[in-house]
Amino acid sequence: MKVSVYEQCLSKKDDIIQIRRKLHQIPEVGIYNPETSAFICRELERMGIPFQISHSEEKGVKNTSIVGLIRGKKEGITVALRADLDGLPIAEENEVPYKSTHQGKMHACGHDCHMAILLGAAEILKKHEEEMCGSVKLIFQTGEEELAGARMLMSEEVMRHPDVSACFGLHVWPIPEYPAGALVIAPGCVMAAGDRFDILIKGKGSHGSQPSFGIDPVTCAAQIISALQLISSREVSEKEKGVLSVCRIHAGSAWNVIPSEAHLQGTIRTTSTQTRQHYKKRINEIVKQTAGALRCIGEVEWSAGTPAVDNDAETAKRAADAAGKLFEKEFVIDHASPFMATEDFAFYQQEVPGVYAFLNISDSGSAAGVSLHNSRFQVDESVLWHGTAYFVQTVLDWLGTGQN
Ligand SMILES: [Zn+2]
Ligand SMILES: [Zn+2]
Repeated sequence: MKVSVYEQCLSKKDDIIQIRRKLHQIPEVGIYNPETSAFICRELERMGIPFQISHSEEKGVKNTSIVGLIRGKKEGITVALRADLDGLPIAEENEVPYKSTHQGKMHACGHDCHMAILLGAAEILKKHEEEMCGSVKLIFQTGEEELAGARMLMSEEVMRHPDVSACFGLHVWPIPEYPAGALVIAPGCVMAAGDRFDILIKGKGSHGSQPSFGIDPVTCAAQIISALQLISSREVSEKEKGVLSVCRIHAGSAWNVIPSEAHLQGTIRTTSTQTRQHYKKRINEIVKQTAGALRCIGEVEWSAGTPAVDNDAETAKRAADAAGKLFEKEFVIDHASPFMATEDFAFYQQEVPGVYAFLNISDSGSAAGVSLHNSRFQVDESVLWHGTAYFVQTVLDWLGTGQN
């Protein structure tokens, strides 16, 4: 009797949880994740899946991303599945048997789940290679949190050799309004573009008792911070989303000295190119002109940001249809309001149509209401296999098996 994708993946439920727990214990951060990558390599070897280790490096640090390839026995296109590998510099506060053993580091963004989900899918898809018309690229990417990994893999032409026609990724996410295990597979922008700004305000230092002898950059910084907030509340269309946060202020070194400079750092999060450009233009204007009005000099520096995660509508529809073959309606959500966090999966979507989905892993126990990037973040592990089943069904639908 032929076993359905649903049953094949359900039978892997416990293995996926065990793999997730092993990876949870060894979180690493950044682009150099040697222990995690070695774990992935061992698993791929065990499955008989060939792979390559990244050959790029940045500032002397090696990238340990891994790209595996399952070649179907019949000709066809190639699709890519992507998981991220890195953890966060957070000390875990959960008292669980599989607690992080790496001090000060934690898989608090659920990337351990992403790896386990993708390894589960790899094992099942490998068993389908005889009938598959085409290939699957398995991308295990480091350095997502610092937005470096995808960019580096793109410079290694990860979407080529063989050329990838569509790419898929997913993030576990607490979305308590839906049942645990629900998949959100929506068209359009699902995660924001993110940019970082650094503002320097130059004034003139003086004694704290004699401000008239100086030009105070601190009061100027306060005016600039207030004025910047008006962009979001007064200038962005009511139909759009836009966030501006000044997250860091630094000025002065003594309580009775007016410093000569003040530094501000922050981020903007936007969901359209137009709004992104508007923020940049207006921040530059407000900083320069407010500083000028207060006799200071204001400068803004922008760091290379991440584009928005923008799901191709047709691809998203087909991916949601694939999920619909596996799960009841309430587990497949085909619309979403964008999360204002960023994801470097966006870089892949600049080259090929892609879909970034979300798997609701809301924990109804002690971790209820705890967000990602929190030292007490936990997931409902019993639904991780839903992610695996979604990946497997999507790939099989895309490539076709020559049987229909
Ligand atoms: Zn994260
Ligand atoms: Zn993440």
